[in-house]
Amino acid sequence: MNTTWIRLPIEMTKESDGGDMLEQYRYCARCGEQLTRKHLEGRLRPVCLACGNVVYLNPLPAVAAVLIQSGRVLLIRRGVDPGAGLWALPSGFMEQGETPEIALRREVHEETGVMCAPGRLISATTHDDHVFGHVLVLAYTANCNDMTAFAGDDAVEAHWFETTHLPRLAFESHLEFIRQAELLHSLDHEIL
Ligand SMILES: [Zn+2]
Repeated sequence: MNTTWIRLPIEMTKESDGGDMLEQYRYCARCGEQLTRKHLEGRLRPVCLACGNVVYLNPLPAVAAVLIQSGRVLLIRRGVDPGAGLWALPSGFMEQGETPEIALRREVHEETGVMCAPGRLISATTHDDHVFGHVLVLAYTANCNDMTAFAGDDAVEAHWFETTHLPRLAFESHLEFIRQAELLHSLDHEIL
């Protein structure tokens, strides 16, 4: 048989279509029966033949905050994977019923003790995380009056770093968010 390999665009590859996540879904959350897999609406999905439940695997929404005050950005050193021991922006997953802005205020306060006011949406990007699967990250600028920061929740340190002297970050995207926030800040102040 003549087999032709077609290279799919990245958004259609196994890594990003939730293929690896399918293994985690074995039993129906609705009726408890074993799930099977069926091609439905263009994808392989866990399906319950007993009750008809279809498990749709959606990206997990998360928020990340870029607080820049006097040329310094607020970072936390992560206590848990992914990226345990490395620095990152205060960030976390949205809870049911939260707006992105409320989730952002909560996460920043939990991880750093800082009360912030969310600003502008910098970026909405997705990435594949080996722990959580496909994650949608909404990055916002944020402002605060009091820069007093202390580590909380799953952060082991919280510190304001000069944006010109950043430590090694856990996620490449966070560096990108910081640079985008700086650019927005410059535009706001008509420096460019
Ligand atoms: Zn079922």
